[in-house]
Amino acid sequence: MKKEITEWKLTSQCVCIDDNDEPSESCYDCYVDELDLFKSEMLMPYLAVKGWEMDTPIKVTNSRLGWRGVSGYAYTTPEKLIEKLALDGEWTLRFEFDGHDLTAIRYSHDEPMGTGKFEFELSDEIDD
Ligand SMILES: [Zn+2]
Repeated sequence: MKKEITEWKLTSQCVCIDDNDEPSESCYDCYVDELDLFKSEMLMPYLAVKGWEMDTPIKVTNSRLGWRGVSGYAYTTPEKLIEKLALDGEWTLRFEFDGHDLTAIRYSHDEPMGTGKFEFELSDEIDD
């Protein structure tokens, strides 16, 4: 059975457009809207498949992060997932949801070719 993959891009950069579909000179808080859309269109369906809530403890892992390409992990919740994956400065997250699992790749100044895949699993630990 072929898996249907849904993609989503979330970025720190302004994605506002003006009446002519050109990049807008001023920002109308697009990030807030984009984050809401991501949550309703991709995160909620993912949580529904997993049987997780917004406050379910999850562990985030990645095998290649930053300019050194080191592995790392963190504990968080779906509610705070984006805060955990975001950086200071400019970043872009590309999510893929295959109907069962969600992954994400981050692009930033130190990660121009992208990180490894962020993967998420149920955890019994939480730190914040
Ligand atoms: Zn904007």
